[in-house]
Amino acid sequence: MVVGFVGLGNMGAPMAAHLIEGGFTVLVNDVDAAAMERFHAAHGGRVATRAEIGGLCDVLILMLPDGKIVRDFLLAEGAGPTPADALKPGSIVIDMSSSAPLGTRDVGAVLAERHVALVDAPVSGGVARARTGTLAVMAGGEAATIERLQPIFARLAKTVTHVGPLGSGHAMKALNNYVSAAGLLAACEALRVAETFGIEGERVIEVLNASTGRNNSTEHKIGQFVLSGTYASGFTLGLMRKDLATALDLAHQMKVDLPLAEHFVGIWADAERKLGRAADHTEIDRMVSAPPRPA
Ligand code: NAD
Repeated sequence: MVVGFVGLGNMGAPMAAHLIEGGFTVLVNDVDAAAMERFHAAHGGRVATRAEIGGLCDVLILMLPDGKIVRDFLLAEGAGPTPADALKPGSIVIDMSSSAPLGTRDVGAVLAERHVALVDAPVSGGVARARTGTLAVMAGGEAATIERLQPIFARLAKTVTHVGPLGSGHAMKALNNYVSAAGLLAACEALRVAETFGIEGERVIEVLNASTGRNNSTEHKIGQFVLSGTYASGFTLGLMRKDLATALDLAHQMKVDLPLAEHFVGIWADAERKLGRAADHTEIDRMVSAPPRPA
């Protein structure tokens, strides 16, 4: 099976490297030539242009910032054929990016006209689990198509959940990140109050992790990236803000009222304006009001 892999960023690079280690023939592409060179020097793989990659692979994986970029990569006219036109009938596209679910269904319809299947298979677990090949995949699409992709997913993920029809994976990813981001910000707020009261940060985390306030952020983010002051999780504030906006858009489209999410997305949008989209998402801690954490 020849696999095309587009997007060699924080997540994509370790994922594509696992596929090469797993014996797949991997063609790689990234709009950033330096990222492609770095990847090629470290892991091998053949560099392919956007115009040629579609016609050369059986499975095309996209790990790009958002669904609009995915759509443009596949469908926008440019130099040479679009990847959607170049893909062979019977090939499969996997969008592993965190894209917006209704946009995914639109792209799926265009690809289906070309007899190309689309599966949405976003991931959770962050850079750490991309590196260890233990991501959680949430997949949307035809069961038989997802089954054919198991050898690929087996190199990248510890769990693969078939959520439902096309777009369901992307819907769940946005909703997962809403719950995850709420847990992170709540933990940062509790931490700040406790520290101001005079309780040591390490004790706060110890108690939360032994108690019912425990969540993924208290276990894997607050001590590692917030208390340490490194804010280096590898997942940007801009990407998290995008996921939260996707969750809220989905709620609007489903006509479900989410008063907490309305307020919450505003906090993250404000953080992106103040800290920049490239800031780490754990820097949301900086939005918790003064007094600042003791140095
Ligand atoms: P990133 O910004 O580090 O990487 C994105 C890569 O895509 C970059 O190398 C960029 O040059 C490339 N790219 C952008 N436009 C392109 C185009 N038109 N053609 C080819 N390449 C292009 O982002 P990331 O952190 O790796 O995240 C990728 C996706 O995974 C996002 O949708 C994100 O929301 C999701 N995600 C990220 C994490 C994380 O912890 N970083 C975790 C789960 C999901």
